[in-house]
Amino acid sequence: MGELHENLQFEKPTHSLAELKVKLSEYQVKPEFLHDTYAIVCIEEGIRSAEMGNIGVGACLVKDDKILYRDITKHLYPYPRTDLHAEMVVMNALEERICDEKNPRMRDYKLFSMQEPCVLCTMRLIFSQVGKTYWVYRDAHSHEGGDTTNFDRQTEALKGLASRLIFDEADCSPELKEIARQVFLNSTSGAVAKFLSRY
Ligand SMILES: [Zn+2]
Repeated sequence: MGELHENLQFEKPTHSLAELKVKLSEYQVKPEFLHDTYAIVCIEEGIRSAEMGNIGVGACLVKDDKILYRDITKHLYPYPRTDLHAEMVVMNALEERICDEKNPRMRDYKLFSMQEPCVLCTMRLIFSQVGKTYWVYRDAHSHEGGDTTNFDRQTEALKGLASRLIFDEADCSPELKEIARQVFLNSTSGAVAKFLSRY
């Protein structure tokens, strides 16, 4: 493959997935942060996703402080399902379970993702009316992040539909945010090459 487009040239990670696994297992939950526990779950799933060859992003879905679902991004492996971002995977599980509920009170659910949900997932989360969406990290200085959030990239009508919803960064420690960022950076070159090879 020739030179990658400059927007696809991500920063090189400074830690391997194996090193990040050790860091995560040694990390002690800090009580001053509300979301450390969920952030750890998202990162564990993110590592699992990256080890398979997918972009390293994991997610979990929470209700009444209990984790209902946790899973990985499956857009390339075990076989390409380009719709199956981690957020989509846990939302699919939930919507299958509550399909008969006439008033599912979506406001009671919280979705945590290792990284800011992409435009596609943000749109789906707005349609589904999940009350609160939090991400472990968002790197505004990166190509995949940028100055504008994926919520701000939505149309005005969708923002209207989202008026009661929360989209925000998780309240977790800076150490966890950096581990999450490193997991993502470990996964980009392999996944990008795989995407482009499908052309
Ligand atoms: Zn997505």
